[in-house]
Amino acid sequence: MHNCIFCKIVNNELPSNKVYEDEDLLAFEDINPVAPVHILLIPKKHINSLAELSEKDYEVASRLLLVASKLGNEHCNNNGYRIVSNVGEDGGQEVNHLHLHILGGRSMTWPPG
Ligand code: AMP
Ligand code: ZN
Repeated sequence: MHNCIFCKIVNNELPSNKVYEDEDLLAFEDINPVAPVHILLIPKKHINSLAELSEKDYEVASRLLLVASKLGNEHCNNNGYRIVSNVGEDGGQEVNHLHLHILGGRSMTWPPG
């Protein structure tokens, strides 16, 4: 997808600190972490956001959750973690390539801002 920074990361046109990769998914460290653990998990295929998931994305969508669970469990020391996906303007989405934030390593507050 044109000018999408996460597609560029997938294509190794931009650097990232990768923590997980398979055929369909990539996880890397957030460049501006807001918690001691801050990993972004994305489908390699460009999908704008959760709002644009469709039935044909069924498999990648379920794998996304399974891998998010695995990464949270592995990186967050059994103390719990938070999975967030910002959607659209009101959701505070800045990068329009579907991603899950995996946040951990500190206690989170609720509600989010
Ligand atoms: P969102 O507001 O949900 O769209 O979050 C986008 C996230 O991408 C932010 O947490 C940014 O810090 C992160 N980000 C932006 N550019 C990069 C990059 N080149 N490498 C890693 N993370 C990035
Ligand atoms: Zn993209």
